[in-house]
Amino acid sequence: MDNQVIIIGAGVGGLSLSALLSHEGIQSKIFEKSQKIGGRTASMIYKNHILDNGFHIMPFYTQSAIYKIFKKIGIESSLKLSKVDEIAFFAADGFHRYPKGISDLLRLSMIPFKSRLSLLKILLPMAFTSIEKTESWDNIPLTESTKNLDNKSNAFFEAVCMLAFADSAKNISLGEFARTIIRANPFKGGTSEFAYPQKGGYDEISRVLRNYIERNGGSVNLQSPIKKIIVQNKQVVGIIDSKENFIETNCVVISYPAYHAINQLFDKDVFDEKFVNKINKLNETTAVVEVHFALSKKLDNRQVVFPVGDKYVSKGIFFISNMTPNVSPKGEHLIISGTPVPPNYVKDPSKIREIVDQMKNEINDIYPEFQQSLLWERPMAWSLVESVVKKPGMVWKSKMPHSVKDVSGLFFVGDSTVSYGIGTDSAAHSSILCLPKILEYLKTSKPTMASIP
Ligand SMILES: Cc1cc2nc3c(=O)[nH]c(=O)nc-3n(C[C@H](O)[C@H](O)[C@H](O)COP(=O)(O)OP(=O)(O)OC[C@H]3O[C@@H](n4cnc5c(N)ncnc54)[C@H](O)[C@@H]3O)c2cc1C
Repeated sequence: MDNQVIIIGAGVGGLSLSALLSHEGIQSKIFEKSQKIGGRTASMIYKNHILDNGFHIMPFYTQSAIYKIFKKIGIESSLKLSKVDEIAFFAADGFHRYPKGISDLLRLSMIPFKSRLSLLKILLPMAFTSIEKTESWDNIPLTESTKNLDNKSNAFFEAVCMLAFADSAKNISLGEFARTIIRANPFKGGTSEFAYPQKGGYDEISRVLRNYIERNGGSVNLQSPIKKIIVQNKQVVGIIDSKENFIETNCVVISYPAYHAINQLFDKDVFDEKFVNKINKLNETTAVVEVHFALSKKLDNRQVVFPVGDKYVSKGIFFISNMTPNVSPKGEHLIISGTPVPPNYVKDPSKIREIVDQMKNEINDIYPEFQQSLLWERPMAWSLVESVVKKPGMVWKSKMPHSVKDVSGLFFVGDSTVSYGIGTDSAAHSSILCLPKILEYLKTSKPTMASIP
């Protein structure tokens, strides 16, 4: 009997866990339903440019959970990263440098001096608090702390939230925001820099992980959807694939959003109804419209620009070709502009068109050569759903646990599970947190003798 660890899903969560297991000498078998690895980070080629799903950048650069995993398993030199730290605000009076630390914040020309002091009064205690303390703020919205600030200071918070959470401050948990500020604090070993793979395409991270897994005896099976996980007497005994094959194992890790998985992969009586209802509440939708533009001219040397103020629909312009020229053919430049939208916009082409036209006009106001250098545009509307569990009451330990008392041998990783950080950073962090639980289980568990269903 071949009782090896089976991982469902080849996104950043599943791949990083598989790589960590390989590093411990444990081989795993990943089953991925789509034709590609990378999950939500899977990029594509469009008119000879490499396009990501919206903008994809890595928060906390060398301090991110992803980078820490690469370092731990000794493959950090295989992933060449470009630093993303040329960031600016654009206000009515021109460009202003994005603050990288406290002294920058004191010089933040976009805001009156008195407001800078009010900002510091909020940010300094956060930056020097402990991660443990932030847990007591997890149910409070960030706007509780910022509601008395003036418009310009609030615009600063909006830009930070767009960069770190792809959403507006009113939707962000104060606890999660504070953890971001702590992790960006250089005095606590943090960094406010972001990163992007130099080769182009955020899914380069997944490719490097896959190579490591396969070099170490693990496997990644594409176009292999899993239909069911079989649990007998509160113990995982195997899985059933789409061809109805039963594959025996006593250890399964689900690496896609838990609130989908617990409703899709199990018989009804496996989980307690109260637990299922609690986890289903994490299934929250936020949405963004993001538009890729290819240009025949370089409009700016910066990497990210935040238009500030209510008159701008576009909340962030990302100059991807300035992060790495490798995303575009020679002589062409790729940028992407994004904004959060109400979820119902995602299915309404006329609303999306309206937003895109508005974005184009305002980018042209900032960069008068935009329209004449525009080669093509590609709007996309995203329901971010599972990628952004950042709302008050839905962060850190309120997410899906890595294991459940009802079923032995079953584990969960990915951005919907207990972890902090946003997006891919949280998916990787969940793997770091789940690994010791799996190792402990494997030490004590015996191979199962399943009665084939
Ligand atoms: C538009 C957009 C922009 C984003 N921007 C950023 C950003 O700038 N920075 C950032 O860090 N994050 C960003 N994110 C979020 C980031 O992509 C996700 O948080 C991260 O990729 C989640 O990884 P995961 O492994 O948890 O899940 P996923 O990537 O969803 O991986 C799960 C995998 O499981 C597979 N699967 C599902 N069901 C089955 C089944 N039954 N059998 C087999 N396989 C199955 C899926 O096909 C998928 O490949 C963005 C997301 C989107 C959509």
